[in-house]
Amino acid sequence: MDATCDRLRPFGESIFTTMSRLAVEHKAVNLGQGFPDFDGPDFVKDAAKRAIDSGLGQYARAFGLPSATRAIAKYTGKSTGFEIDPDAEVTVTAGCTEAIAAALLGLLNPGDEVVLLDPSYDSYSACVAMAGGIARRVRLSGPEFRITDSLLRSAFSKRTRAILFNSPHNPTGRMFDEGECAIVASLAREFNAIVLSDEVYDAITFAREHRSIATLPGMRERTVILGSLGKTFSMTGWKVGWAIAPPSITKAIRSAHQFLTFCAPTPLQQAAADALDHVMADPSYLVQLRTDYLARRDALLGILRDTGFECLEPEGSYFILADVIAAGFKDDVAAAKALVRAGVASIPASAFYDPANSDPRWLRFAFCKRPETMRDAQTRLQAMSLAALASGGN
Ligand code: GLN
Repeated sequence: MDATCDRLRPFGESIFTTMSRLAVEHKAVNLGQGFPDFDGPDFVKDAAKRAIDSGLGQYARAFGLPSATRAIAKYTGKSTGFEIDPDAEVTVTAGCTEAIAAALLGLLNPGDEVVLLDPSYDSYSACVAMAGGIARRVRLSGPEFRITDSLLRSAFSKRTRAILFNSPHNPTGRMFDEGECAIVASLAREFNAIVLSDEVYDAITFAREHRSIATLPGMRERTVILGSLGKTFSMTGWKVGWAIAPPSITKAIRSAHQFLTFCAPTPLQQAAADALDHVMADPSYLVQLRTDYLARRDALLGILRDTGFECLEPEGSYFILADVIAAGFKDDVAAAKALVRAGVASIPASAFYDPANSDPRWLRFAFCKRPETMRDAQTRLQAMSLAALASGGN
C-alpha cells in the first residue's frame, strides 16, 4: 500500500509531522516542531503587504529578485567581511530546506559521499539519498557532542564530495568552537570537499557571536553558506532561504533550483530584502531577538530542570536537549509518547541519527514559544511525575 520509491521509503514520515499530529490529538502544548507560536515583526509583515499591493505577482528571476540577492549579499557580506557578488554568488530558494536539496542535487554524482555529523537534521540524509549520494554518518557523543579529528577523519575519503555542517546546531544547541571548525575546515581542504554550512540559527546565539566557517583560511572557495528568513524573523512559513557560494558552485546549485521551484515567491523575496535592509540600518530588532530568546531559554531550562530533567544548556538555536535515560525512561521514543499523552509534545532526538547507530538518550524541547505557552507547559509538567511516566512508559 506504499508506492514510495526505494530511495525514500526508509525515511518514513518526518518526526516533526508525527509529533505535531500527536500534539493536536492529545491537545498537548507543542514544544516539538521548531516553529515560533508568535508572529514575526510588523516591519516584515508590512513589507510583504506592500510588495503584494505593488503587483509583484509573477515569477521572479530564477535565482532571485535583484533586490533580494543584493540585500542577502550585503547582509552576509557584513557578518563575514566578504565582498559577495549578488548576481554570481547568491541563489534565493524556497526556504533553506530547498537550498540544501538544490546544493546536493546540483553537486553530487551517483555514489559521491557526503559526511553528516549526527545528530543531524532529518532532511540532510533524505536529500543525500534523493540526490543519489551516500551519507557517511559520524556520531558525536553527548553530552559534549564535540568534533574530534580522529572521529571525523574516519568518515573522509577520496569519494567525499561534501560535508554538511550546522552551527548553531539543531538539535544540541551547540556552537562548534574555533578548534572544531578548524578540524572540519582542514579535512575539507585536505580531501577537497565542499562544506554545506547550514547557518539558519546564526542570529539566535547566547555564547558568542556566530562566525561562519567560510571565514576560515581557504574556506570561502569551498563553502556554501545556507541561510533563511524563517528563524531570524520568526516567519518559518514564509519559506525564503538562500545559498551563497562561489560562482562555480552557485552554477551547480542553480542548475537544480531552476527545476525544483524555479524561483521563491516573489513578494516574499521583496519582503526579505526589506527586512534585511531594515536590520542592517538598525540592528535593534536583532538585539531584542537575542535578549528575548535568552529569557525563553532560561525559562524553559528552569521548567525542565524543576520537572526533574537533566538538560544541556544551549549556546545557540532554540532547542534544549533533556536526558531521558537519567530520568528513568527506557528511551527517547517512550519518553516522547508518555509526555505527549500527559500534555507536552517534544521531539525524540533519535530521529536525528543513523538508525543503525542511534542514541536513545535525548528528547528535544523547543523554546520559540510565548511565555503563556511555556507557563501552560510548566503547569502540565508540574502535574506529572517523571518516575511514574517512566515506569508506565516502559
Ligand atoms: N526546523 C524545524 C525543527 O527542527 C522543523 C521544520 C520541519 O518541520 N520540517 O523543528
